[in-house]
This record gives sequence, structure tokens and C-alpha cells, in this order.
Amino acid sequence: MKRAIISETPKHIGEKVKVSGWVQSCRSHGKLIFIDLRDKSGLLQVIFLPNLSGNILETAKKIRPEWVVEIIGIIKKREGNTENKNIETGAIELSVEEIKVLAEAKTLPFPIDDDGYQIKEEKRLKYRYLDLRRERMKNNLIVRQKAAIFIRNFLSDRGFLEIETPILTKSTPEGARDFLVPSRLQPGKFYALPQSPQQYKQLLMVAGIEKYFQFPHVFRDEDLRADRLFEHTQVDIEMSFIEQEDVFNLIETMITDLAEKIFNKKIQEKPFPRITHTEAMKKYKSDKPDLRKDKESGELAFCWVLDFPMFEVLEDGSIDAVHHPFTALADEGLKKFKAISVEELRSPQGKKELLGFKAKQYDLVLNGVEVMGGSIRTHESEVLKKTFEVLGHKPEAVKKRFGHILEAFEYGVPPHGGIAAGFDRLLQTILNEKSIRETVAFPTATSGITSVMDAPSSVSEDQLRELGIKIVKKD
Ligand code: ASP
Repeated sequence: MKRAIISETPKHIGEKVKVSGWVQSCRSHGKLIFIDLRDKSGLLQVIFLPNLSGNILETAKKIRPEWVVEIIGIIKKREGNTENKNIETGAIELSVEEIKVLAEAKTLPFPIDDDGYQIKEEKRLKYRYLDLRRERMKNNLIVRQKAAIFIRNFLSDRGFLEIETPILTKSTPEGARDFLVPSRLQPGKFYALPQSPQQYKQLLMVAGIEKYFQFPHVFRDEDLRADRLFEHTQVDIEMSFIEQEDVFNLIETMITDLAEKIFNKKIQEKPFPRITHTEAMKKYKSDKPDLRKDKESGELAFCWVLDFPMFEVLEDGSIDAVHHPFTALADEGLKKFKAISVEELRSPQGKKELLGFKAKQYDLVLNGVEVMGGSIRTHESEVLKKTFEVLGHKPEAVKKRFGHILEAFEYGVPPHGGIAAGFDRLLQTILNEKSIRETVAFPTATSGITSVMDAPSSVSEDQLRELGIKIVKKD
């Protein structure tokens, strides 16, 4: 007999069906035993009548929550006022004829019939496969998929090509620490896990792809917080022959449709307001202003923040790119940037000058959270080279670390630009979830330990020897 999905059982009143799933709860009322059976699609009340054979009733009495069972029975309409309006199958029940226990289950370490927020993160992540049984988590995963399909179709329909880029790669500067992977074939050398596919997507523009997107996993070894993960998913986009305005148009349509059609949300202001970085800092003391008029109403307040400074000078005097070095300077400053030497720009006076250069960078902010960020890129290899040198890389180091992209730009590079969303964080903000981890199936805990599998873990002496690695205790 073919298994029926619980949500479809109301269509089978009077028929014999086979269902299988987990026991959500069991209770007895006098001589009647009830269980609520759960599968991916919903809940179904199952009733054991007292006239069933002794074996079946014995089994029914033994059953505990979260056991996995298969039941054959007849779908019946529930009597008069016993309907349960809260569940989809509330008008029916399954009257048992046969039952098979497929797996018993220990008592769960925590309840799963509530939202689970009160349970400690470590515990939820250690038993994530149980935590995901709760309705809220399942729905978050369902919505995540809907959002991903929507974005994938939206971009594909507009001629974007989805292309995967490598995970074992070379360090690319996004401002965080790299995760490194030792090479067995070249002991002493390391791959870096990508902080973003930034250089690959630009190389794809040199390759003539013109419109690229991907849902890459990216890795950043930084301090973990409620809205940060070591490993997160981006929606990464790059386009050729475009201006900032083209990015705004594309993204604004995509995000508006996503919020309204997939999440049924109201957007506070359309088109999204635009604020320069200077204005945002002056008026809101933040480059991620929260423009919500009413923080309780569930509305989404988007805004673009633009005209960021290109450089910042850190406390130790070093110079950094506010976004990343591939970002183009605003047209007004470009001539000046070209005219001043690297030495002058790195001098104390030059540093002051540097802070005045604006970049073609833009962020999309939602309710005070940066959900997307991108820029038009420098496509002149000389300017890119100079940017690296201004950031403090010696010419030889630039060649070693970035020679590949500088060389690529010598073979006909189209003007290009793009943007990336932190997909998990975007979902978190739209869903108004307390933590980015609520939108990811198996996230790393704030302590840095992975869900369920307890990595990082030690490796064998043999593995270390093969990689030419010796562990040195830190003081
Ligand atoms: N690579 C950038 C990031 O990950 C986004 C971009 O500039 O497209 O933030």
C-alpha cells in the first residue's frame, strides 16, 4: 500500500490509507487511546478503538512521543464538536486497523512543540536534528527555499548565469581573517577558503559572462555574534557595462518582490530612500540607519547608503579600504588619485587626503542591518595596482597576491560592478528572527563549535606528518 501524506488525508474520507511519521503526543480518554501523528506535511489525530485486537492495543499503550510508526486505518470524519480548527486535518481522524513500530525513541533532551527560544543555543545545536523538528524551524527552512528559488528564477529570467567558483582558493581581501587549509602536495603552503568570490566573479566579467550570480558559501574567521557566522551563504551578483543605477534598479525590484510576494511583508517606503554616507553619519550616527517609523509594526524599512569614503585609517595608522580594494573611486577623485604618488598618499598629510576620496560603493540597509553591499569596480589595472600599494602592499607582494587579476585586466576588461547579499542575514531580518542561526540548518555556535559534529577537533599524528605540520602550544 502506498504511503499517504498527512496533509492529503482529508481527501480520503471513508478510505483505507497508510500513513507514517513521528508520534507527536499520546493520550487516553477512558478506553480510547489517541495519538497525534506528525509527518513533514502536518499532524493527524489517530484513534485506537477498544475493539481492536489485544496486540494492537498493547502496542498503542507502549508508544511514546517521537517513536516512528506506520499505521493503516480508515479516515473518518470527526464527530460533531470534536473538530480541531487549529490543524489542517482537524475535521478528520484515522481509525487504526494495523500499526507497526518502525523505531523507538529516547525522551528528547528538550521540548520541540514550542518555539524553542528559551533553550540554550549549545543544546539546540548539539541536537540540531531534533531542534529542526519544531514547526518554526521547519518553516524557516521552507521559506529559505522559497526565497532562494524566487531569487534564482528572478535572476535567471533576466539572463544571469549561475556559476560556481572554487572553495579551495587564494586569500581575497574582504577585511576578515582567512580560514586556511594546508596543502598535502605542497607542504607549507595553504589554500584560503573564500571570504567572497569577489575576484572570480570579476574574472567571469573578463571572460565575457556579463551577468553572473551564485549562492556561494563564504568563510570569515571573525568573532561570532548573533548576526555573524564563520560560514555564511551569499547571493552574489556581478554585471558588466552597468552603472550604479542599474544595480539599484535590479536589486530594488528583486527585493521588493521577494518581501511582498514571498514574505507578504509591507515595505515602509518605495522607492527605497537613498542617503549618502556623510548624511547617514551626521543624522543617524550610523552607516546602517534604522528608518522604521514604528519598530513594532513588522514593516520593512529599506534604504540605500551610498557615496562611502574609499579609504579609512585604522587606529594603528594603517590604511584600509572601506569596502574592498576592487571598488572604484568616484569620478571626481580619480584624476587626483592618479596624480599623487603612493608615497605622498601614505604620508601623514596624504592620509588626510585619502579620507576625502569617495567610492562607488553602496549598501542596502534593512531595519538598521546591512543586508547587501557592493560597488562599481576599478577596471583600470594601474589604478587597482596603486590602490593595493596605497593600502600598504609592496609592489612585489601585489604581484604575488594579485598578479592574476591585474594580468587578466590587461586582456580587455569590461567596466563592471556588482553586489552581494548575506542571504542568512537577509532572511533573519525579514523574518524578524533573533539570531542568524535560526535561518540556517546546521550553523556554527557562537562558541565556534559546529552543530552536532563538534568540530574543530584534533587530527591524528599521521595526518599532521603528511601535511608537514607541527602543533605548537600558544603561550
Ligand atoms: N564581495 C563583496 C562582499 O562579500 C560584495 C561585492 O562587492 O559584491 O561583501
